[in-house]
Amino acid sequence: MNNIVFLGLPGAGKGTQAKKLATQKNYIHISTGDIFRAELKNNTPLGQKAKEYMDKGQLVPDELVVDMVLKKITELKDAPGCILDGFPRNLSQAKAMEGKIPVEACIYFDLAKEEVIKRLSSRRTCRECGFMTPDATVCEKCNGEMYQREDDKQEVIAKRLDVYDSETSPLIDYYNNQGLLKKLDGSVGMENVYKDLLNALGIE
Ligand code: AMP
Repeated sequence: MNNIVFLGLPGAGKGTQAKKLATQKNYIHISTGDIFRAELKNNTPLGQKAKEYMDKGQLVPDELVVDMVLKKITELKDAPGCILDGFPRNLSQAKAMEGKIPVEACIYFDLAKEEVIKRLSSRRTCRECGFMTPDATVCEKCNGEMYQREDDKQEVIAKRLDVYDSETSPLIDYYNNQGLLKKLDGSVGMENVYKDLLNALGIE
C-alpha cells in the first residue's frame, strides 16, 4: 500500500487536497477529525468522549485514536493506498505506526499562521456532508446547513495552534529525517497546490 501522510496546521488545506486526490486518483481518504465528527453526529460513546477534547482544541487521547486508525488501515490492505489526513498528530502516534503501516511520503502544507487564523475563523462546515467553505449558510454540495465548528471559534483556534506547535510540528523533523518529507507552499491557491501535490508524488 502507498500511504501518504498529510501534515500542516489546521486550515492549511489538507482536507481539501485529500478529498480531491482521493476522488481523482483512487486513494482512500482517512480523516480522523471527520471520523470523530461522524461519531458525534451518530451520538456514539466515542463521539461524545472525543467532543470533550475537540471542543477545547486538545488532542483526543492516543488510546482512543491509535487502535481505531491502525485497525481501519489494516482492513484496507487491498486498497492502492490511504491518505492520512490528521493522523499521526504526535510522535507517539507516528511511532505506533512503525512496522505496521508503511508510509511512502509525508506532504507538509506550509502556510503562515496569520493566514490559517483568517481561514479557520471564516470557515463554515456542512452538518450533512462535512464540506467546508468560507462564510456560507447553505452547502453548495448538498444544500445542508453550514455551521461554525466549535473548534473554529477564535478562542479554540489559538489553543489548536499551540497544540500543533508542541505536539504535531515535531513530525516535520521525524519524516524529514527519514527522507520522506515533501514541503508544499499552501498559499498559492487550491488548483496550484494540487498541481504541486501531484508533482511531489510523481503522479500525472
Ligand atoms: P481536524 O478535523 O483534523 O482539524 O481535527 C479536529 C480535532 O479532532 C482535533 O483538534 C483533535 O481534537 C481531534 N483529532 C483529530 N485527529 C486526531 C488525532 N490523530 N489524534 C488526536 N486527536 C485528533
